[in-house]
Amino acid sequence: MRCHQHFDTEAVAVCVSCGRGVCRGCQQPTLDQRMLCGLPQCAALAKKQAAVPFVIAQDCANRATYSKTLVQTLRGITLILAVPSVLLEIILLVTAALRPQAAMADSIVLAGLGIILILLAGVTWRFQSQLSLLQNNWEDLAGEFGSGAVDEPPAST
Ligand SMILES: [Zn+2]
Ligand SMILES: [Zn+2]
Repeated sequence: MRCHQHFDTEAVAVCVSCGRGVCRGCQQPTLDQRMLCGLPQCAALAKKQAAVPFVIAQDCANRATYSKTLVQTLRGITLILAVPSVLLEIILLVTAALRPQAAMADSIVLAGLGIILILLAGVTWRFQSQLSLLQNNWEDLAGEFGSGAVDEPPAST
């Protein structure tokens, strides 16, 4: 392929916008290391395209932050639910083991309540771990778009 302006010079790159070949002297790298031919309409288009990944990166970063807050809240709820109920179960088990005849209806109700709370904690924990995966996804996406590493093929037909 030859340069679109110098027909005797071999092209070293292709314009990401119009797909024309450009020589060493004509090529104009964009901020995100893509090549342009130097025509004003192509420069304008590249600017517009560069703005899109930035918006997406911002959006992904926002979602990641939101998920992170939610994950932390859910972890807190899980701890609040699980720690006292596990302690309660241990205390009930110990007292039941020490004095089996003293196991009253009250402690059975308490034990049941503790188990329900532990199950609830299990649900919130599962929810936060799924959300945590989602958060990682958003962070990856934000990084991907933010670095401008999106390799779009030149729009040549
Ligand atoms: Zn061009
Ligand atoms: Zn040239």
